[in-house]
Amino acid sequence: MVKMSSIVNRVIGKVCRLHPNMVSHIRTSERVLFLTFDDGPTPQVTDTLLDLLEQFDAKATFFVIAKEATRHPEVIAKIIAAGHTLGNHSLQHENFQTLSRAEQANDVLQSQTTLSGLCQSPCKYFRAPQGKWTFSLISLLKQHALTGIHWSKDSNDFKTTSFEKLTRSLIDAEMKNGEILLFHDDSEKSINMLKTLLPHWQKQGFRFAAIEGYV
Ligand SMILES: [Zn+2]
Repeated sequence: MVKMSSIVNRVIGKVCRLHPNMVSHIRTSERVLFLTFDDGPTPQVTDTLLDLLEQFDAKATFFVIAKEATRHPEVIAKIIAAGHTLGNHSLQHENFQTLSRAEQANDVLQSQTTLSGLCQSPCKYFRAPQGKWTFSLISLLKQHALTGIHWSKDSNDFKTTSFEKLTRSLIDAEMKNGEILLFHDDSEKSINMLKTLLPHWQKQGFRFAAIEGYV
């Protein structure tokens, strides 16, 4: 049986080929993986995650929810100071497939303004909440010189499955250069997984980079 997620990934892959401002995998000959974290910042969780990433000299991309970022500017400052990339994950995580074009535009512009105020430079990257893209959102991003970032591998860390089981399935998955991996930093599950995964992937010769500079 073909899994729903693989069908979605195939469709997203096609969309990315047609729209150069949409990316789900980064073409590179470097042995590098792109870790991305959605739905933060979450005090304590994001802080602990930053410490773990530092231990492995890992850079990542944080797709933050603008309203949460306003509540925790000190965490945003730590993310930037550590050399990670900050991405926009909308104002308050609404499903863009249920918003009108005007509402989508309002959300993108307001969240861009909020995040620019916190990090002194505009975000260049946007990820739709739950990866629910629409063609009007993609054209809106293009209009504002933003790149939409999807993912090529989903950690499924939002599911109720145990972190041990999820970790095992990522260890079993074949990792290629330039994979964009989806994690979340709204709970400690990703941290529990990465304590095993980071050393495992490092042993396979991978390093971990932020998206800035590659896209
Ligand atoms: Zn999200």
